[in-house]
Amino acid sequence: MATPKKNKSTHNEEIRTYVLKRDNKRCQWPGCGSMPDTEVLFLIETENGNPAAGSQKYKNGITLCPKHMEIVNLHDKAFGPLIFDLIQLVEFERDLQETEKLYKELLNN
Ligand SMILES: [Zn+2]
Repeated sequence: MATPKKNKSTHNEEIRTYVLKRDNKRCQWPGCGSMPDTEVLFLIETENGNPAAGSQKYKNGITLCPKHMEIVNLHDKAFGPLIFDLIQLVEFERDLQETEKLYKELLNN
C-alpha cells in the first residue's frame, strides 16, 4: 500500500480517476460512505507479494475519508489485508452491477 500523493505518472493518475469514479468519491469503509475530502489509498503493484523493483506503479486503490485514511495509515500492517479484501469486494460489487445492467438491457429489448 502507499500513502496518497500526487504523482505525475499518467498510469497512476488513471488509477486514481478510475477508483474515484467507481467509488462515487465516497469512503468505502464498511458503514461509512462519507463524502467530503475523500482520498484514494493505493495498492502498489507487487511481484510475488513484494513491491516490484523500484516500482511506484499503482495497481488499484480504494476511496477513504480522512478519518479512515488515518486509521489505515496508522495500522498499516493490521489493515493491509482488510483493505485488499475490501478492494476485491468493491470490484466484485461493480461487476455485479454491470452484469445486472446488461441483463436488464437484454430483457428490455
Ligand atoms: Zn470513512
